[in-house]
Amino acid sequence: MTHREMLEKGLPDTFDNSMRKWRSCPREYYWWRRGFSFASKPAFFAFGSAWGVCQGEWYKQVGKEKEKDNKIRALNALQVGLKSWDSSAAEGAKTDTRENLIDLWGRYIEMYPEEPWEMVASEMGWQYLLPRTGGKYMLGGAIDGYLKWEPFGMLVLETKTSGSWISDQYLRQWSFSQQVTGYIWYLVQLLGEEQVFGCLMNIASKKTAKAGKTPKFARKLEKRSAEELEEFERAWRSDIEVLEKYYIEEFFPKTDDALNCVGREGRSRCLFQPLCLSSIPLDELDPLQFEQIILREEEWEPWKREGGGGRRGGGRGRRRKREEEEEGGGGRGRRRRREKRERNKSPGNDSRRYEK
Ligand code: SF4
Repeated sequence: MTHREMLEKGLPDTFDNSMRKWRSCPREYYWWRRGFSFASKPAFFAFGSAWGVCQGEWYKQVGKEKEKDNKIRALNALQVGLKSWDSSAAEGAKTDTRENLIDLWGRYIEMYPEEPWEMVASEMGWQYLLPRTGGKYMLGGAIDGYLKWEPFGMLVLETKTSGSWISDQYLRQWSFSQQVTGYIWYLVQLLGEEQVFGCLMNIASKKTAKAGKTPKFARKLEKRSAEELEEFERAWRSDIEVLEKYYIEEFFPKTDDALNCVGREGRSRCLFQPLCLSSIPLDELDPLQFEQIILREEEWEPWKREGGGGRRGGGRGRRRKREEEEEGGGGRGRRRRREKRERNKSPGNDSRRYEK
């Protein structure tokens, strides 16, 4: 997309969490929105995808008719994951290697040969109206799947690999994660808040564990209150207003945090560094002249993702009804929110942690 085409196209009508990159750098969002991306998948990204593929394949069987031999299941899952790694053509570096994928998978299977929960659906794209935007904007995304775990209830399954040690601080970050809030928000739209407990963070560290000191794997149950989900919606509306302003002013400022540009622990360097160091005006600059930058072939629409057994986030009737409640009947909307708050006062509504 050219500079002019992007501005004329205007704001997208569906937003997912990764589009929030304008919060850390509006200019990065600008290049990304025009369709520019990495020529080859960064190794950490390819590793995370391959790990997700292994898990997806493995958990297809949980709670359903299981193959007799876990070893065969594990090997099948690993084969599919390795295929994903090989097709990424990523150049392995540090912990993001084919060998580490094989090693980590072996340890994972040993750690969790069976699960106390049942997988309900996997690989699901979703889209739901963002309330109080006049039906104009939707939130969307994709989840690894969701599961049923008694006595908790329904949980989104979020699979993560980490390049750092699994520490208390590392685990605590997920209680503040808007990405996780978004997943829970989605499941609440799909199933209703009575059924939903939250999100199961299923974490694996790619680093070699220090014996007896650092766990290789951890699990954490994340929960969000009705207020937090409402605040999440409100934050999105506010973000969209800010983004609208950038489009109107035709100006997407650069970040004032230089570490966003050069990278730091947990964040890779920005692909668009050379563009930002160039003195050529934005509408004349050709990003394809720079190394490692390509034009994405497809629109960014992760909510269109569909996988084995997954249900797409639908419920248009429910969405419309909710929109009417929120927009039209102010009294009903307020009453509904008050009721949600009351329900949420029940004990045990805090974030809970489950580790093995
Ligand atoms: S190099 Fe820095 S300012 Fe430029 S797009 Fe990347 S993060 Fe933003």
